[in-house]
Amino acid sequence: MTDTYTRLVSDGPGRNIAKKLGLPQPAALRRYEPGQALLTGPVVVQGSTPGADKLAAELLSWDLDVRRHPVPAEKLGAIILVLDEVEHPGDLEKPVLAAAASLRDLRPGGRVITVSRPASEASSPAAAAARQGVDGFLRSLAKELRAGATGNGVLLANGVEPTSPSSLGAIRFFLSGRSSFVDGQFLEVSSAAGALPADTDKPLAGKVAVVTGAARGIGAQIARTLYRDGATLVLVDIPAAGEQLAAVANEVRATALQLDISAADAGQRIIDHAVQRHGKLDIVVHNAGITRDKLLANMDQARWSSVININIAAQLRINEALLASEHFRSSPRIVSVASTSGIAGNRGQTNYAASKGGVMGMVRATAPIVGARGGTINAVAPGFIETEMTARIPFAVREIARRLNSLQQGGLPSDVAETIAFLASDAAGGINGEVLRVCGQNLVGA
Ligand code: NAD
Repeated sequence: MTDTYTRLVSDGPGRNIAKKLGLPQPAALRRYEPGQALLTGPVVVQGSTPGADKLAAELLSWDLDVRRHPVPAEKLGAIILVLDEVEHPGDLEKPVLAAAASLRDLRPGGRVITVSRPASEASSPAAAAARQGVDGFLRSLAKELRAGATGNGVLLANGVEPTSPSSLGAIRFFLSGRSSFVDGQFLEVSSAAGALPADTDKPLAGKVAVVTGAARGIGAQIARTLYRDGATLVLVDIPAAGEQLAAVANEVRATALQLDISAADAGQRIIDHAVQRHGKLDIVVHNAGITRDKLLANMDQARWSSVININIAAQLRINEALLASEHFRSSPRIVSVASTSGIAGNRGQTNYAASKGGVMGMVRATAPIVGARGGTINAVAPGFIETEMTARIPFAVREIARRLNSLQQGGLPSDVAETIAFLASDAAGGINGEVLRVCGQNLVGA
């Protein structure tokens, strides 16, 4: 999938013309490759709490160049603002303005990360105001960043420290090139569970993962990314996509399971296949999905029911089978693919948005059940991703859709896949019931 405009304005005369006319100039994003340094340039940890001190010490042990105070005019890889003890909106001023002084020194592709606590758990109206203030602050700041830099926040539930495993996991994800299309988002760490992987390039080593809808598009890329990260894979798709499925399976040394996920026994067949062929099942990625767009006034029963059946009813049924199975009890992980349509709505997509809203509702309600088994269930909500599906959108609509986010470009299937790989890893063991958007911070609606 190509984005011709981005190539035209990235250098040479095209770049100068775009600059003169004030046209969008999307930056080439810093995307992860194995062995890549976490950051280029030092990271400044702003904030004066014990949590900030401990976090700075931990980042030093990652071999990062860590500063507690910026050195004038030094180019920075990242700014981390630790706001874990704010009690009143007035408490934001000092750390926020200290960070502001460093912003111009942030390198292209740099990162700003806030570490704070959810307003829902605040003990006073003033503390809730301060915490919710961080939300508005960070989302606005992310819209001001340029040159592929992103801003995201980690929210720590009461009792979770900035150096808890999944806090570090989330910070590491946001710092890295794995999160390059995640912008203006918050991720809540609800418990001190989780562990950073021994080998950061193979965080899924030893895991058996199932990916549905893996014959093409985002699903095929999820398979490649989980394989690269060390997982053993079972790839599922409908029999009609059997040839494509076999090709992807061959590429990532997976076994292929031709199966319609809306079949009544789909969950049991997935479990049986994984256990018989690979001895166990650790991770399930619900990616398979369809669109059947029509304005509601023209909607027919077939369009409505097929989208609801495949996109959400099948996931509910498969999860029931998984949660009833003795083979899905050891730190099980489920990651579902939702969509920003299910958050902001989309004209012509009442059926699809109902199904994707349903995915998010299901994830939140299932979290305590999976959590009781030491596992997690989370969702990613992609925005505009460059795939065969979005390539079919008429040119003008497509061009508007892909530019209307803070990074002024569409995401790639790998951006969704990297986020899923993170949520499936041990580093995210304390993150449960979350929906993380991979949308470049869509400017409209969401
Ligand atoms: P795609 O159409 O390219 O791929 C979907 C895959 O799912 C196909 O291989 C298809 O055969 C398979 N599938 C469909 N029904 C199935 C069934 N009943 N059983 C088994 N497999 C089935 O779509 P994509 O763009 O790669 O989207 C993947 C997921 O991401 C979907 O859930 C989609 O809703 C979601 N999503 C995509 C975008 C985007 O911009 N492309 C944005 C938001 C969300």
